[in-house]
Amino acid sequence: MAKLFRTAIMGPPGSGKGTISKRIAQNFGLQYLSSGHFLREGIAANTDAGVLVKGYVERSMLVPDHLMSRLMLPRLEQLTGHSWLLDGFPRTIAQAKALNDICQMDLVISLNIPFETLRERGRDDVTGEPLIQHADDRPEALQARLRHYKDVAKPVMNLYKSQGILYQFSGTDTDRIWPYISSLLSTKIPTQPLDTCQPSAQA
Ligand code: AMP
Repeated sequence: MAKLFRTAIMGPPGSGKGTISKRIAQNFGLQYLSSGHFLREGIAANTDAGVLVKGYVERSMLVPDHLMSRLMLPRLEQLTGHSWLLDGFPRTIAQAKALNDICQMDLVISLNIPFETLRERGRDDVTGEPLIQHADDRPEALQARLRHYKDVAKPVMNLYKSQGILYQFSGTDTDRIWPYISSLLSTKIPTQPLDTCQPSAQA
């Protein structure tokens, strides 16, 4: 029986991961789940979770791990019959471990984009919002945000590296990175996903 395929994409703000995620989802038929999208949806609908996370999202601060896991894991557990792509989750090692407890990932993509490129782009490719959002923000603030991203992402990447499933892509142009990602996924994604999500052996 062909296996389901579970993947995640990681990258700093402005890295083009939203664009690449959409291409992956479209080309490989994966269910696309974006944590940022779910959070913004909850905020717009004024749900209980939306009220709890609003302050964090508005300040581009990480939402606490327990709230993120409570938001994301049940959605994944409902998708037992589907292959999926996660965008924006897991962001921290606590989230990665919580995810690992319910599902073993097959492959994780990490985008490694030079700081200069991110600064020049200046915008989130999904929401179109400026990466610098506050009156007191300067290039140093973007640099600090990226440093924070790297500090938090590093243990997550190390976990996936130790599992042998981390694939890193470097470059300044999304259209030039895409063919490499596409050909990697072509070799990895089963054509007819059939079985269900098994709990991970390494809880
Ligand atoms: P994104 O669209 O992925 O850039 O996420 C937008 C905002 O949602 C982030 O700046 C965080 O405030 C919050 N967020 C999204 N995903 C997570 C996550 N996995 N952990 C904590 N906060 C998150």
